[in-house]
Amino acid sequence: MKKTCPECGEKIVGRIDKKFCSDACRNSYNNRVNKDSKNLIRNTNNRLRKNYRILEALNPEQKTKTSRAKLIEKGFDFNYITSIYTTKAGTVYYFVYDQGYLPIEGDYYALVKRES
Ligand SMILES: [Zn+2]
Repeated sequence: MKKTCPECGEKIVGRIDKKFCSDACRNSYNNRVNKDSKNLIRNTNNRLRKNYRILEALNPEQKTKTSRAKLIEKGFDFNYITSIYTTKAGTVYYFVYDQGYLPIEGDYYALVKRES
């Protein structure tokens, strides 16, 4: 059975365990895969940083209230958090590092800063 190079699609000749047709193809394939995963990490970190800055800017006094519309207007992305904290009473706080939010009634959120 003939294998093909995952980078260029050429048929691979030579040793049976060869995965790529050439060193050049192996290198460019691996570089691309590594770059993609680094981009993913960088993009995620950027999103988290942005979320953190938004919460920090809206909550300078450790504790406040804001609306969902305000968060969204600032560019907050609810998909990016770093941890979830559930109190004994079952209240769930969502944290981006030490800045947290808690959905309250209506379209409002309580913002809290975790004690360090
Ligand atoms: Zn190739």
